[in-house]
Amino acid sequence: MSVRCGMTSCTHNDNDGNCYASVLNIRGERARITDETLCCSFIDEDLRALMEFSEEFNSSNKRATTTNIKCGASRCIYNVARLCKADKIKVNPETASCDTFITP
Ligand code: SF4
Ligand code: SF4
Repeated sequence: MSVRCGMTSCTHNDNDGNCYASVLNIRGERARITDETLCCSFIDEDLRALMEFSEEFNSSNKRATTTNIKCGASRCIYNVARLCKADKIKVNPETASCDTFITP
């Protein structure tokens, strides 16, 4: 059920590979390869620091799990009705794409 992510520049990341977004939105409506998917819940840490009302962001005190994911990458074998049914996913630390994306 885990979401592992090395994107330490994201405000939802605890810098230890864990994500604390309450909902993850993964894009990839036309994705045929991993690089065409994208975690759109990424929020740059520096940007958040400039915002007065940080609670507007969907940060959570619980680690994100795959049950928190809405995903548009319909070609992925783990995608069922725009929800992720993978046991765990890994988000790429450089591109924020879903490394677990796989087609049949
Ligand atoms: S999975 Fe997305 S929202 Fe979560 S820490 Fe990584 S880039 Fe940020
Ligand atoms: S594993 Fe597939 S369904 Fe789950 S988030 Fe990644 S691309 Fe979307």
